[in-house]
Amino acid sequence: MLNSPHFWRTTATYLLFVLIGVSLLVVRTLTDISRDEHTRSEEQLHAYALTLAASISPSMLTANNESMAKTVDVLAINTGLRVTIIDSNGVVLIDTHQDPALMDNHLNRPEVQTAINRGEGRAERFSQTLRVNYHYLAVPIASSDGLSGIARVARSEQELDDLIRARQLQELMSAIGITLALAVLAMIVAWRKTAVLEEITQITEAIAQGDFERRVTESKAAGMKRLADALNQMARNSSRRVSLLTSDRNRLATVFTGMVEGVIDVDQKQNTIHINEAAAAMLGVERDKCIGKPVWHVTRHQKITQALDEALRQRTVIKTQVDYPLENNYLVMDIYVASLSDDQGEPIGAVVVMHNITELKNLERVRTDFVANASHELKTPITAIRGLSETVVGDPDMDKSTALHFMERIHAQSIRLSHLVTDLMTISRLESDQNTSEFTLLNFGELVNRALAAAETAIENKHHTLTATMTEAKIEVVGDRQQLSQLADNLLDNAIKYTPEGGQVKVRLYVQGSDAVLEVEDSGIGISPQYQQRVFERFYRVDKARSQSLGGTGLGLSIVKNIAERHGGVVSVSSQLGRGSTFTYRMPCGQHNQD
Ligand code: ADP
Repeated sequence: MLNSPHFWRTTATYLLFVLIGVSLLVVRTLTDISRDEHTRSEEQLHAYALTLAASISPSMLTANNESMAKTVDVLAINTGLRVTIIDSNGVVLIDTHQDPALMDNHLNRPEVQTAINRGEGRAERFSQTLRVNYHYLAVPIASSDGLSGIARVARSEQELDDLIRARQLQELMSAIGITLALAVLAMIVAWRKTAVLEEITQITEAIAQGDFERRVTESKAAGMKRLADALNQMARNSSRRVSLLTSDRNRLATVFTGMVEGVIDVDQKQNTIHINEAAAAMLGVERDKCIGKPVWHVTRHQKITQALDEALRQRTVIKTQVDYPLENNYLVMDIYVASLSDDQGEPIGAVVVMHNITELKNLERVRTDFVANASHELKTPITAIRGLSETVVGDPDMDKSTALHFMERIHAQSIRLSHLVTDLMTISRLESDQNTSEFTLLNFGELVNRALAAAETAIENKHHTLTATMTEAKIEVVGDRQQLSQLADNLLDNAIKYTPEGGQVKVRLYVQGSDAVLEVEDSGIGISPQYQQRVFERFYRVDKARSQSLGGTGLGLSIVKNIAERHGGVVSVSSQLGRGSTFTYRMPCGQHNQD
């Protein structure tokens, strides 16, 4: 506290006021004392002179009169005054301070003259006799026949001055005492005020640094209640505002972080202020390292920077699409750049929103490819049928066996066409109907048995040996009967198709954990590892000619994959070229499979 400038300033101000006040009072009091003492002295002289004149009878007015000497002595001793008795001729009869014989005639002394003429004479002058300044007061001693003498009393100026000085000194001492007491009081008041201010200052500093829980208590705010109330109110308001802002900011940050779209917030100079996880993941950068960096360092894509330049310059929204190269692949992104303004309409930067549309683009490409492939696949049998039929029609003389040969080929192509159309329709149905709400609880074992029964003829035709192993317990799954039948049919059909005559086809159905597992194994031609994943693609065939000769469309396994995914299942293949393949379909069991 002692090093607080406020304390010393307040103390100095109070002291200045105290000093000015006390000084004015002292000057006034000292003047008053001097005047009062003079007046009092005059009055005393007057009273003593009158008393003296009254106690001396004209008969006493002779030199060496004892009773007169006694009266004069009593008065002089009691009052300390100089007393002089003068007869009517001006001869000094008695004087308490000088031998009358040595004194000259006093008739012409001004006070004596005035006393004779006016009944009372005053004078202040230097005494020739005693060589001291005196205040004289003379009154006549009257007798029945007129003036008989003069009684004079005098006080030396020195004595009066001493008296005044003594009283003034006394007043000065008490003024000094009062000043000291007031100074101590001023320091106490300044101390208390500074303590309160110090307290309020500390709390204000704490509030300024964000500690909004601090409050000025009523006891500490002595005399500054309004200030304390205002400060507390300010702290409460700030706290409310800050928590509102914080929750808003948190909400925005959560939205920002959780967005699937990549978002980059930049300032006017295109320096990155924020970048969300999605954006960092898309661009393959570390979020923390991007903050404060120019956006060019983050995106390294000219088209994005150009869009930003344009949006900032034109203060509008710019839309563009970019192919963003990554290490192994690339992204296709829709980019929206919007300039940002503050509430005054001043530009403050821009926000870049990146929408990853790679998958959409791929799907688009797959669809276009599919349409092209489907058209091509359809065109082949149609062209063949057309060519073959034109040959037959154009040659009426064609012998019957050749014509029959042509007809058989037309028939085979039409069957191929029919298979293609059926498979294409299945695919289109699967894609358009994504609804799984009509799935029902099915007996998977029964479904597989039906597929096996349907394949019996084909198995017999190719002299395959079929081994079916199924758990006795009923295996139930939730799904679409027709689709799951098609899945089993397609797997079984392929196993029969791609296994040379007299091969082995094994079908196993069992429960593993909470999954139902269907395995279709054959001892056929097998698939070399590099094609094993591709066989699930549409129209992909390892050996196109062989597939076609066997009536394949290249769509069977893609239909299987599609059905598997719709049922929450997975289909996989393990195969060895020339030894055979095993296709495994795994899907979750239905809820009643424990019956
Ligand atoms: P496809 O109608 O040609 O059989 P799929 O989609 O059913 O079409 O199969 C795609 C390709 O996968 C086939 O052309 C064939 O090359 C290969 N493939 C499918 N199943 C087997 C299998 N069990 N053994 C050997 N290769 C197979």
